[in-house]
Amino acid sequence: MFKKIFTLYILISLFTLAIYSESQPNELGKFLIITYHVIGDKDTAYTRTIQGMKDDLALLKKGNYHPLKISDLENRNLNIPRGKRPVFITLDDSSQSQFDMDEKGNISPDCAVGIMEEFKKKNPDFPLSATFFILPGAKHPNNLFGQEKLTSKKLEFLVKNNYEIQNHTLWHANLKKYKDKIEEQIVESQKLLNKYLPDYKMTSLAMPFGIYPPKDYEHKLLSGKHKGIEYKHNLIFDYSNRPSFSPYDKEFDPLHVRRAQAFKDNIEKMIQKYSESPDSYVSDGDPNTLTFPKKSEEKLNPKFKEKMKLVVY
Ligand SMILES: [Zn+2]
Repeated sequence: MFKKIFTLYILISLFTLAIYSESQPNELGKFLIITYHVIGDKDTAYTRTIQGMKDDLALLKKGNYHPLKISDLENRNLNIPRGKRPVFITLDDSSQSQFDMDEKGNISPDCAVGIMEEFKKKNPDFPLSATFFILPGAKHPNNLFGQEKLTSKKLEFLVKNNYEIQNHTLWHANLKKYKDKIEEQIVESQKLLNKYLPDYKMTSLAMPFGIYPPKDYEHKLLSGKHKGIEYKHNLIFDYSNRPSFSPYDKEFDPLHVRRAQAFKDNIEKMIQKYSESPDSYVSDGDPNTLTFPKKSEEKLNPKFKEKMKLVVY
């Protein structure tokens, strides 16, 4: 009898410990903003294979991640269920390998959108979404996913199906070299997109090559004007292959938001690591409270002390 009770006690303790360690919220933790480029046949620094992207999505689901869009981060709207980890899937350079269609408008199952749509169908409980950083004035096939006759159809599909579009400049300009063309690169990109989606406003920018202009030009990335057209970006993304700080962490810098690179071993390891690490962002499920362990307290950006209800444990 005693042995049975003791075994039961051990089992309950282990179960409690597992639940406790899995769902302990930490909203000052780090999270991943994953960046894909080409989807293709061979893994390279800028190419992820079709199967590789499928595997990444499966790993994200298994690791309790919850995908969000870049505008959610702009608004600090990380409202996801308790115990879930935010993740941002981004795709740079608007190549045809990301979005390919036949003449009838059928999406190729081997392009990024095809892979994601298939995953959505098979996993309706996984709220998949992604953000495309586009190059509307680039050469084929990066000029809004190649296939000029289908551009309109593709862009409309993206906005109707829980995807987001953000700026990556007109044609991938190195903005250190073209520091006097920053406003032009941003506004002309926006204007070309509006030929297809008249009211769509891009509100964030990813730096081509991850290269920044000199410090005294950086404010132009956030706001400016060209030929009478103004723009305002809330976040500027780098390509430093590091996890992002929590937006409540005082080290979170809206001008240099960190992204992780999606190539084979790198991304698999990162997804794995941040699904287990005590340093990763885990939601408390309540948009009005900010929950974190006492040992992380010094990371808190003081401006949130008044704005939000803090739960420290
Ligand atoms: Zn790029």
